[in-house]
Amino acid sequence: MPKEDKPHAALLASPGMGHLIPIMELGKRMVTHHDFHVTIFFIASDHASATSLLKSSTLENLDIIALPSVDISGLVDPDAQLVAKLFLVMRESLPSLRSSIGAMKFRPSALIVDLFGADAFEAAEEFGMLKYVFNTSNAWCLAVMFHSARIDDKFILEDHVKGQNSLEIPGCKSLSFRDTLESLRNINRIDRPEFRGDKMTNSHGILINTWEDLESSTIEALRDNNLLGTILKVPIYPIGPLVRQDGNQVLDRQVKLWLDKQPIESVVYVSFGSGGTLSAKQMTELAWGLEQSQQKFVWVVRPPSNNALGTYFTISEDNVDGTPDYLPHGFFTRTKDIGLVIPMWVPQEQILSHPSVGGFLTHCGWNSTLESIMNGVPLIAWPLYAEQKMNAAMLNEDFEIAVRPTVSKTEEIVGRYEIEKMVRTIMVDKEGQAIKIRVKELKNSAEKALNKGGSSFNSLSQVARDCMFHHPP
Ligand code: UDP
Repeated sequence: MPKEDKPHAALLASPGMGHLIPIMELGKRMVTHHDFHVTIFFIASDHASATSLLKSSTLENLDIIALPSVDISGLVDPDAQLVAKLFLVMRESLPSLRSSIGAMKFRPSALIVDLFGADAFEAAEEFGMLKYVFNTSNAWCLAVMFHSARIDDKFILEDHVKGQNSLEIPGCKSLSFRDTLESLRNINRIDRPEFRGDKMTNSHGILINTWEDLESSTIEALRDNNLLGTILKVPIYPIGPLVRQDGNQVLDRQVKLWLDKQPIESVVYVSFGSGGTLSAKQMTELAWGLEQSQQKFVWVVRPPSNNALGTYFTISEDNVDGTPDYLPHGFFTRTKDIGLVIPMWVPQEQILSHPSVGGFLTHCGWNSTLESIMNGVPLIAWPLYAEQKMNAAMLNEDFEIAVRPTVSKTEEIVGRYEIEKMVRTIMVDKEGQAIKIRVKELKNSAEKALNKGGSSFNSLSQVARDCMFHHPP
């Protein structure tokens, strides 16, 4: 229960582990480093991982409230983009958020929402609260969204999509068509359904899960009024990297024992985030590529789907040695000494922080990216959806901490020899050693930003101070 002796802030997370996890980390940091009472609202879901995450996150002065799940099935085209559905879920959850805050005896002085929750600012205004956005991705992605919201659809369609030219963003890295945001890809129309740029620029600040030294020129461009396109200057607060490091989730004993037995930095961890899936053909290539690389691996496997975000599927029959029928016949037997295949989900922070892990083949979700950096682990960038191609480009071209596959143009498949080559590059070759050094430098720079007196610490302290001195009526 919030009490009058502590400042109180409310945080609202949109559905998806990639949103919930960083919101939780922000909440914890406000409690532990800035002496806040924090209430986190999330949309109730039956996602087992979300429930276990929330259960494992008990902390004094941190309350977690589940808002009832909402049914949007009659309100949206079933084929609509995920972002459109997320905005709608958040909009429909507004009445329950409002009544929950309204019922609080000691109301929060600020509401912090992620990128999909800016509609909730209506409730914040009614209760006289400060309003902040927390962008759980990086500054470059935000700059692209602001920039694309300000230019003509026609221009994007003709120049970027049809012409496949780069988007030039003032003060920022330009965005090549190959890496463009999923929502800007469509040849017939731009799908930026309800980007709330106007609401964001009318907030009291935008917090970003990045740090000054990582994206200094982009952050500077965001602070420039020309890019935000408003006469109001919205403060930009890089407060990251906020990642899970508490190890509260339990790693399966067998997995831990297996990892403990491997030499230091000898295992490549393979995972496509909380919802990513591969096609059956791509999965076969990945299995052969891992096997041929002869490197140790831990692979979090989901049955194949042609939808890169395909979290729903039917479990297939296993064949003789227990290998599921969507992996090559006899894969388990042939890789029994080098690999571990884990279905669906692992506590990722526990894997990445294990000393035997030395590489991460990832879909480049921003949380996974930051978790890899914070554990000094080099990456193989294999983006699937949303802003992941942008992240991959940044990791490969700017930070030089990732290798990136060449995709076969005819089939859009990464072949087994390419996979074998990438794994060996980061795990065995000299290039991998150089990447390792660079990723460890970034880890140091991130830690410096987070430590007392560092840029991210100071940014969040500023937000905390503003919330502390704001007293809602
Ligand atoms: N995650 C995990 N175990 C898994 C898959 C994902 O703990 O098996 C966590 C991961 O550590 C990260 C989050 O889920 O914190 C995924 O967020 P990210 O931004 O990387 O990708 P998204 O799932 O949102 O695409």
